[in-house]
Amino acid sequence: MHREDILIIAYLISSVLFIVGIKNLSAVKTARRGNFLAALGMFLAVTVTLWDQKIIGYELIIAGVLLGALIGSVMAAKVAMTGMPQMVALLNGFGGAASLLVANAEFFHEMHRQGPANYDPAIATAVSIVLSVLIGGVTFTGSLIAFGKLQGIVTEKSVMFPLQHALNALLILIAFSLGIFMAMGNQGIDILASVGLGFFELNILAYTIAGIALVLGVLLVIPIGGADMPVVISLLNSYSGIAAATTGFVLGNTVLIITGSLVGASGIILTQIMCKSMNRSLINVLLGGFGQTPTAAAGEAKEITIKEIGVEEAAMVFESARSVVIVPGYGMAVAQAQHVVRELSEILEKHGSEVRFAIHPVAGRMPGHMNVLLAEANVPYEKLLEMDQINDDFSNTDLALVIGANDVTNPAARHNEASPIYGMPILNVDKAQTVVVIKRSMRSGYAGIDNELYGYDNCLMYFGDAKEAISKLIGEIKANAS
Ligand code: NDP
Repeated sequence: MHREDILIIAYLISSVLFIVGIKNLSAVKTARRGNFLAALGMFLAVTVTLWDQKIIGYELIIAGVLLGALIGSVMAAKVAMTGMPQMVALLNGFGGAASLLVANAEFFHEMHRQGPANYDPAIATAVSIVLSVLIGGVTFTGSLIAFGKLQGIVTEKSVMFPLQHALNALLILIAFSLGIFMAMGNQGIDILASVGLGFFELNILAYTIAGIALVLGVLLVIPIGGADMPVVISLLNSYSGIAAATTGFVLGNTVLIITGSLVGASGIILTQIMCKSMNRSLINVLLGGFGQTPTAAAGEAKEITIKEIGVEEAAMVFESARSVVIVPGYGMAVAQAQHVVRELSEILEKHGSEVRFAIHPVAGRMPGHMNVLLAEANVPYEKLLEMDQINDDFSNTDLALVIGANDVTNPAARHNEASPIYGMPILNVDKAQTVVVIKRSMRSGYAGIDNELYGYDNCLMYFGDAKEAISKLIGEIKANAS
């Protein structure tokens, strides 16, 4: 068998592993296996690519692998669960940067091989190079801004200025126009010279396009504020995939085309799911400038009168509830309360209550955040219900226990048109007979708005850190039982 055939077969196997891996990732039960299969596919792809030897020397590759593995391991070990979205944003950004650098390197390599005066690239390669640089550049700086926003280094608020969309459109137009000339090679340079733009040489064109892409990444993400960040991250994830796929065309590497397309497509599907969950249209996301929160128009802030309870009353409420739905949110993640939450659910079940978990698609700070935490605490998968599966059932539920969740339970999203989260589907906890909310104070959640639920007649506030409050509650229920 020829070297080339072995390479193609190995790439085919790794592509199948990626596809089966992604399929497995779509269900919590099979997600670990999916992750493993995809990692195996990546290992195979990288190994055969190295073996193919059409690349730089082994010393540099091994040094790169060791350094990358060291940095990656330290980052993975250190990152808190609540910091995962930032980490994902950063990794997307590196993917984009890699596409930009590889495509540019390939452009310079080919230009010098042919000689700048004779440079006449194959059209498919030239178009792929321009797209890789553009999308890679936007992904890189856009992801850095998303990272900065989530990390609190860049303001979380939407940054808008006059004619922002017009400027973005103009930059996109200039980048594409210059890209066409670059793809035309020395012919393009001649045309530019004939219209008085003789200072554009091929390398200046390449740098200008990369520069515009980097600026565009910043401009497209700064107007996006607060509660829309998850959409941005999954969109950037998709961009990083598209950039990788176009780089695959530049290098003529099939496995890169396939993986890039898979990431690009799954990222855009996730973006659409997120858009639906947060009530934002995809076109609004693509244009940027969304997430403007009309806080001034959010309506008169009404005085909320709350009913506060202590651990004894909370225990009594739990002991009399036959059906309980637990709604975890960001606060459960911060408090690392998932293990005590599982313990509480087991105790309630022992007392004869039916306990289920309601998972909002954007609860926490990343898609699947709550599923991961509860799976880590060994809560059985079948008890985790998605919003659509559980929402109609709240009206038949004795008790909804809201743990560190805020925005995803705010009924204002259903009826207050002035609210920044108006239209976002929420968990209908207010329809349960009684709602107990565990949080530390009356502070708002990610969207920065008050939750009118806390003033509802059937809502009881049990203040405290989620882990401590639940541990005390468990102690009280156990003491009452003995
Ligand atoms: P929220 O951010 O709305 O609210 C979390 C609440 O947890 C806060 O009000 C806080 O109140 C409470 N809390 C914080 N620490 C603790 C603690 N130690 N113990 C108990 N409570 C605590 O969370 P939700 O999960 O309801 O909503 C998620 C929000 O994040 C949405 O707006 C979503 O759009 C956004 N988002 C989601 C992403 C995703 O992909 N899932 C990514 C980025 C943003 P207090 O300080 O009083 O304790």
